[in-house]
Amino acid sequence: MKDLYFDSIVIGGGAAGMAAALELAASGFSCAIVEREDGLGGILTQCIHNGFGLIEFNEELTGPEFAERIEEKLAGTGITTFTGATVMEMDARSEQKTMFCYSARWGVLRLSSRAIILAMGCRERNRGNIRIPGDRPAGVYTAGLAQRLVNIEGFVPGKDIVIIGSGDIGLIMARRMSWVGCKVHAVVEILPYPSGLTRNIVQCLHDFGIPLYLSHLTTRIIGKGRVEGVEVSPIENGALQPEKAFTIPCDTVLLSVGLIPENELSRTAGVELNPMTGGPMVDSMLMTNVPGVFACGNVLHVHDLVDYVVEESRRAGAFAAGWLRGMRPGKEARIKAGANVRYTAPVRVDLQSGAKIYLRTLIVKNDAVLDMKVNNRVVKSLRKTHIQPSEMIALELSPQDLHEVLDAPDPVLEISIA
Ligand SMILES: Cc1cc2nc3c(=O)[nH]c(=O)nc-3n(C[C@H](O)[C@H](O)[C@H](O)COP(=O)(O)OP(=O)(O)OC[C@H]3O[C@@H](n4cnc5c(N)ncnc54)[C@H](O)[C@@H]3O)c2cc1C
Repeated sequence: MKDLYFDSIVIGGGAAGMAAALELAASGFSCAIVEREDGLGGILTQCIHNGFGLIEFNEELTGPEFAERIEEKLAGTGITTFTGATVMEMDARSEQKTMFCYSARWGVLRLSSRAIILAMGCRERNRGNIRIPGDRPAGVYTAGLAQRLVNIEGFVPGKDIVIIGSGDIGLIMARRMSWVGCKVHAVVEILPYPSGLTRNIVQCLHDFGIPLYLSHLTTRIIGKGRVEGVEVSPIENGALQPEKAFTIPCDTVLLSVGLIPENELSRTAGVELNPMTGGPMVDSMLMTNVPGVFACGNVLHVHDLVDYVVEESRRAGAFAAGWLRGMRPGKEARIKAGANVRYTAPVRVDLQSGAKIYLRTLIVKNDAVLDMKVNNRVVKSLRKTHIQPSEMIALELSPQDLHEVLDAPDPVLEISIA
């Protein structure tokens, strides 16, 4: 067994892990990235469509190009990468933390460090998670798995496709399956509005004439050996209308019904999770309740754009470096998700240094007003021309915004949308 020590270890070598590791190395700390796949880049490597990097690089890149741009920066930094190595266990209770990694190349690795960054990304919800009635025929895939099959393995899983859920991966796959010669008959969405980004609705559905059934529930998957169709019923005024059910024939169903942060490892290490996101609860330093363990990227909360993943992960890396130098959070206010706010990340803000906060709304609205109040006193308001649940909202609070509430007892920052 190899036994190695680093100042910091990053679990996951996607965009988040690489960005965080670069910050740690730039601050002079030794750092290792452990990645279970054979290469770095994470989910980006299978996203061969463009649309990445408009904020980070001011250019429209494909997923692999974006990953390559970041990976190139690792050269000469001294960051050690263990690819094809999976972290199976982690003990983070003491100052010196230990993890065990299994790898075909090195066997068992025992790695120790004072700081750990969780950057394990997320996984897809599947048929079991949403319990669609019907038989168990072949031909039901999650959209991300289908993407991997088509883009990396060179295998097209069917010809006549129905996509359940209008998340971004499903929308991207509607276009991708059309490009490889399949007929995409419909995207079926239970909600009255799409779950994916507007640009993907336009570019992946409208441009290809693919119908989107909003407020429709898939009530059955039909077929014994192989999928033969899906039964779909409309929802009107909140009530299912089974008498108006209709069947869409198809041989393949792709599920795009949400992503779940990958936190089994975090849970076993005693990291407290936020029931709204499935990711860790983090303080103003993006640190979990376990001292020295930080989280960023999709393992923290599912992001819409990789540019925001990178921005947040850089901050996580810089905070971890600060923590290694002895920096600790100052006086913090707990953040409360108020009216029409689904969640915020982080869940605490440092009143002296301000904060960057990402949040998701529960509503679709034009001309929305976001209010930030500390103990009922408005510290900042923001107007947004349009908001929707599929698009993350970024807020910044400066120390000036907060200085008048610095002495407030038990401060609570409530963010609400009207
Ligand atoms: C289909 C699809 C389309 C998208 N389209 C766009 C787009 O057009 N524009 C855009 O900006 N963004 C897009 N995104 C979002 C963006 O790509 C992701 O948010 C971002 O790449 C996530 O980065 P991450 O590092 O947090 O996670 P990941 O890329 O998932 O990386 C996590 C890594 O951790 C590794 N890992 C997990 N557990 C362990 C373990 N125990 N041990 C070792 N390694 C482990 C995994 O193997 C993985 O490589 C898209 C995402 C998807 C899925």
